[in-house]
Amino acid sequence: MSLDVQEIKSAIRIHDYISQLEKLTKLTLKNSDIMLGAPKTKLVFDLPTHNKPCYEYVEQLYQEIGDRDLLMQALRTGWHYISSNGTTIPVSKEKYFQQLNSSQAFRVAKQRGYQVPEKFLTTKQFCYGQYEAYSAMHEIMHGKALGIWSNKANFSNFMYNYAKFYKAIKLIAPQFIVPSSSYQSSIPYILDQLWVASHNSNQVRLLGLEVAGEQHFLNGGHSKTLGNEKYLEKLGFEMYHVASWWCRVDPYRVICEFLKESGIFPEAQQYLIGAELDTIDKYVCGICHRPMVRLGWDWIQQCQIGDRTVYAHKHCVAHKVADKLSTRGRLDVQSQRC
Ligand SMILES: [Zn+2]
Repeated sequence: MSLDVQEIKSAIRIHDYISQLEKLTKLTLKNSDIMLGAPKTKLVFDLPTHNKPCYEYVEQLYQEIGDRDLLMQALRTGWHYISSNGTTIPVSKEKYFQQLNSSQAFRVAKQRGYQVPEKFLTTKQFCYGQYEAYSAMHEIMHGKALGIWSNKANFSNFMYNYAKFYKAIKLIAPQFIVPSSSYQSSIPYILDQLWVASHNSNQVRLLGLEVAGEQHFLNGGHSKTLGNEKYLEKLGFEMYHVASWWCRVDPYRVICEFLKESGIFPEAQQYLIGAELDTIDKYVCGICHRPMVRLGWDWIQQCQIGDRTVYAHKHCVAHKVADKLSTRGRLDVQSQRC
């Protein structure tokens, strides 16, 4: 009966997929870390103090596909405008999916003079984990996912830090073009997400979030930028690599782990509902005992069974509450009859 329910159907499909992937790769993906790579140190970029502010580059940067050249020009000339711009995430989830599906970033890179082989434009270069990670970030940054955090002790402190974090994020650019070597003609990297966060009063940090796709593991390789951190560091980027299979199971958690690891909002992970589920096998509903995933912010809920707190599907929690109410209703009717 409940197999028709979206969150249960998706969970069974995704858990099965990861089990098959484990067999194929002979890797223990379900026990793997969420963060596959993180920088050892923070990198800060000093903003110029004397400049002639110019809006032009900022405007271009806030368009669909940004690149490093544009970002640097915008930071040099228009920080004032970046800082005051209200649109932190310029691209909608739907548009992002279209971009991924049509290799739009590579097309734009080609127009801007990078060398891009034809096969990069014709074959799909993405995994669904990329989309899920973007989607979760989108919900979080639009304030639509506040329910992923539990209202426990010191919640006012949490809200204070949330507001501080929110204010520090200036731009999240998807599909961001970065050169992969000092030769302009080489194939560029396309970062899955670039976060521009202000740091102190006159500095920024450039955080690259990369989803290490399962295809790369199947080919025996790794994420496209994993192993090239040194070069990216030289360009000023802090690189964070997250596991795509974790993005399929709990993208909200992946974003929270990134916020913790980068230090821009550590409480995001600390207050996350279900943060103690540290392997994918533990994502099981405490009521129906079927697998769980969190592709919507409310898909995993906390629920009290006797004196135990368990995690359960939104559907199962709603039905349990409905059952309780109808049982109580019947008792009430009976007692009235008596
Ligand atoms: Zn359930």
